[in-house]
Amino acid sequence: MKTHAPATQRSGHILVIEDHPDIRELITTILQADGHHVASAHDGDMGVQMAQRDPPDVILLDLMMPKLHGYQVLQSLRANPATQRSSIIVVSAKAYASDKRKALDMGAVAYLQKPFEAAALRAIVRQHLNKAVVTFWGARGSIAAPGPGTLRYGGNTPCVTLSYGGAQIILDAGTGIRPLGVSLQAGAAGKPLEVNLLITHTHWDHIQGFPFFTPAFVPGNRVNVYGPHSAEKPLDKVLRGQMDPEYFPVALGDMAATITVRDVAMDPFQVGPFTVRAAYMNHPGMTLGYRIEADGLVVAYATDTEPFRALLPTVIRTEGVAEFGRGQDQELVELVRGADVYIADAQYSPEEYAKKTGWGHTNYVDAVTIAIEADVKRLVLFSHDPMHVDAEIDRKLAHCRELMAAAGKSIEVTAAAESVPLEVFAR
Ligand SMILES: [Zn+2]
Repeated sequence: MKTHAPATQRSGHILVIEDHPDIRELITTILQADGHHVASAHDGDMGVQMAQRDPPDVILLDLMMPKLHGYQVLQSLRANPATQRSSIIVVSAKAYASDKRKALDMGAVAYLQKPFEAAALRAIVRQHLNKAVVTFWGARGSIAAPGPGTLRYGGNTPCVTLSYGGAQIILDAGTGIRPLGVSLQAGAAGKPLEVNLLITHTHWDHIQGFPFFTPAFVPGNRVNVYGPHSAEKPLDKVLRGQMDPEYFPVALGDMAATITVRDVAMDPFQVGPFTVRAAYMNHPGMTLGYRIEADGLVVAYATDTEPFRALLPTVIRTEGVAEFGRGQDQELVELVRGADVYIADAQYSPEEYAKKTGWGHTNYVDAVTIAIEADVKRLVLFSHDPMHVDAEIDRKLAHCRELMAAAGKSIEVTAAAESVPLEVFAR
């Protein structure tokens, strides 16, 4: 893991692919003055080769160039695993909307129109160096649901990564942690890995992938696990329990990596550059939601929770109980307050919730209401019901967007989908 530096000071490795010598020189001078390491290529072919040899953080790409033009370069870089993580910004004098759209469709992250102001160039590069990425490896609640009906949103149970500035946090160890582990181990290229895993609670769907997490089997790796103490037992004991020989052939203690398990509660703690705060969710057993911050960037992961305002009136029939429930929900509202990304339990439709009240999950209408109360920037619908095929999640998403629009709010709503990453920018 890289050491951490404040957002405004992050310097990066930049590649300029530009045939015009004056512009190449100008971009290089401006970015070097900001402390970035800048390399340059004078045609498309040379640009592709340089990018593959030493993948840059950011690539500034001209469109009209000899040998390979900008779109060909874009296509080639996007197809190559080595340059998949590079942010490509097209820099061109072409002002047609169709060209801009094409560049973005083909995987560019931005389009900078020539001629540009030095300040605009510096800002766009800084923005993309300060980018955090949230990736869903599993977004399904309760039990894995693979099959032809769930191909788009995915069938794995919860596992999410937040990557920023070379550091990463893993949220939950559902079945989605298996492909994540394969990917992390492949990316390590033989070097030892250190991974940080935050567990919300130990229901099966949140820990079941852990025994299949490859990095935990590799000597030299470190796996730091954080999560709540259950009603009776420390987290360590519960994780060992699921690897008892009755259930799994390898014991936790026999996994070859150095594994540490730490009980956490509501006191903030630090994981690399991330400050983590937790709050208890309303869910059977002890369950935490997490608010993770770094350089002003906030991602809240608050799944497996049932709003008190929905549940309490069904069990206690006194006047004002819904109001009391809303008061109890403030813990959740404050945890996700102002988040750039709020990953929310949105398992049930209102009709389903009426039948599954008390099961510990949220009616998506309440998820929208809480997102509005907490004034978040983006709501991500999560913990998809195993009975919901892709078309039903599309409908849920469309309905949530309608509710948001009807409330006159511009909060963006998306539905978590495996391998569709979200980009978030530190301020
Ligand atoms: Zn649960």
